[in-house]
Amino acid sequence: MPDIRVTFLGAGDAFCAGGKHQAGYLVQTGETAFLLDCGATTLASLKREKIDTGSIDQVFLSHLHGDHFAGLPFLFLEYMFEAPRRRPLRIAGPPGTEGRVADLFAAMYRDVSKKPLPFRLEFTELLPEQSLTLDGVAITPFRVPHQETEISLGLGVGIDGRRILYSGDTGWTEDLLRHSEDTDLFICECCFFETRVPFHLDYPCLWENRERFGTNRLVLTHLGREVLSRQREIELELATDGLTVAI
Ligand SMILES: [Zn+2]
Ligand SMILES: [Zn+2]
Repeated sequence: MPDIRVTFLGAGDAFCAGGKHQAGYLVQTGETAFLLDCGATTLASLKREKIDTGSIDQVFLSHLHGDHFAGLPFLFLEYMFEAPRRRPLRIAGPPGTEGRVADLFAAMYRDVSKKPLPFRLEFTELLPEQSLTLDGVAITPFRVPHQETEISLGLGVGIDGRRILYSGDTGWTEDLLRHSEDTDLFICECCFFETRVPFHLDYPCLWENRERFGTNRLVLTHLGREVLSRQREIELELATDGLTVAI
């Protein structure tokens, strides 16, 4: 089977620690390309990596924080003016995604957002523990502890016989172990080192649990200031902007 390429478009947190870009992971097979999250810097990352923006078929969102979905309006603008798009773009995310994306676009480009887009947006709601397959991509969303009232999701992804787990933003939950079983790649957030909070992960916690994950390759991302400043002590793989993993 031909390789699937996963490109880490941004290995940084919301604060762009160390100048790193925000969350966005591009998955490319020979036949399709899709994004896991689309942070504010994702269009810049795609261009830096010389990715054809028109090749993206779908965007899957873990949750509706700006560093994970605020890049969408720039993608829409790209498809309106720079790389005209006619075919639909699917956006799948937690409940409320369609309204939040519309609000965001209107806040950022009020005039433009009032006109119809030259391509169709197709929204799909992802609900915890309700697996679905969208254009050949099998998605298993599960709820993770990150926001108090809004739903944040971890995403299991199956494509061409390969399996990826993306944690989204989350505190520690044993569900990460279960969902990492038999995965080729686990893209796991690691915001902190010293700081311990129930809504983000820290390196010591991941180190302690490293042998319990059932993945072939664990890559830490969404790296915060604390993690970057103690890189020499870290023995798990850290993502960089532009890292490409073949699975
Ligand atoms: Zn978040
Ligand atoms: Zn985040």
